[in-house]
Amino acid sequence: MDEHVAFLNEQVDRHHAWFSKSLPMIASENVISPMAREMLVSDFGDRYAEGLPHERYYQGNAFVDEVEDRVVALAKQISLSHGAHISSAKFGAAGLRGVNNVNYPFDVDRMNIDVDETVKLIRLVKPKVAAFGQSVFLFPTPLRELHDAFQDAGCHVWYDGAHVMGLIAGGTFQDPLHEGADVLTGSTHKTLPGPQHGILLSDSTDEKFLKRLQRAVFPGVVSNHHLHAMAALGVTLAEFLAFGRDYAAQIVRNAKALAQALHERGIKVLAEKHGFTESHALALDVAAFGGGAKVATDLEKAHIITNKNLLPWDTSPVRPSGIRLGTQELTRLGMKEAQMREVADLFARILVKGEAVEAIATEVAAMRTEFNTVHYCFTKDAEAHRRWRLA
Ligand SMILES: *Cc1c(COP(=O)(O)O)cnc(C)c1O
Repeated sequence: MDEHVAFLNEQVDRHHAWFSKSLPMIASENVISPMAREMLVSDFGDRYAEGLPHERYYQGNAFVDEVEDRVVALAKQISLSHGAHISSAKFGAAGLRGVNNVNYPFDVDRMNIDVDETVKLIRLVKPKVAAFGQSVFLFPTPLRELHDAFQDAGCHVWYDGAHVMGLIAGGTFQDPLHEGADVLTGSTHKTLPGPQHGILLSDSTDEKFLKRLQRAVFPGVVSNHHLHAMAALGVTLAEFLAFGRDYAAQIVRNAKALAQALHERGIKVLAEKHGFTESHALALDVAAFGGGAKVATDLEKAHIITNKNLLPWDTSPVRPSGIRLGTQELTRLGMKEAQMREVADLFARILVKGEAVEAIATEVAAMRTEFNTVHYCFTKDAEAHRRWRLA
């Protein structure tokens, strides 16, 4: 084999081996199911499909259009009672387009927006768009409480559910479109366990508004979307219809169990007075153990994969005092509350007792031998396996 190709193969193999012996706890990641993964190696990934289904600028999209229609229908079924728009792109890049930002007053104790102060701010600033979204998303956003103030200001509400899309679809978090949001955007690969992709949904009945959204996506920010990822998203959504409620509920139960167990073992979890979390995510204050960067590096040596994170009171972005955890991927691997307590034990042995990380890594690998398949999905039949691979 060519030296470069051999090198690349080896690195990917080593990555696979490493991750199969690790505890993946980054709150923004997940693993896709075997059947969804099949879609990623299909010929869809080699094609272009500019434009909207059945109105393409390219030939060759007959089956792509069928798939896109079905994926849109599945997305509506899973997230909305009526009317939806899906796209392969984030709404984002607002800053680049000259948007003037004003931040929300934040209640650090609750790790959430301060409702009274925000109402005052809305009345003062009269924003055109209110954007909500968090990368440390512990509690539902108080959309209902802010609804009147938005109405008075004539303000559109955009809810960025990147992290919590699977929890919303699984009915365990909040239902933004029914609580006053005009647009719900999200990642399709965090708590919703699909391919890396984006989704945009609206239940607006205002056709003009919907057309503007659609144009903002295509041609506004996207020319061609990734067709293989779109097909994989379709499989993910079909699986979510079958298993999503159970999955989402277990993610949140696991997050609460992990938070409680860490707390009992002397590790500081934020928002203690408010039950730590209502989502998949936890924020830990690890200043006492050397800070976020050191702790995340130590955990990685023990094969526990996390990330350092700024906490609300941090001033230096390079010296964050926190780490962020998510339970969505461990849950996907079949772990429940008992395993969360085992994981908390490992954290305490590393951080509180200062045990050697190498020994912990061996225990993590042993733990993973019983949790090495993807749950909450259909099983792949032999015929489907690699059927697009050219002989
Ligand atoms: C992850 C995230 C996104 C989406 O980013 P991706 O590129 O899809 O991963 C958007 N908003 C927030 C708050 C996020 O955390």
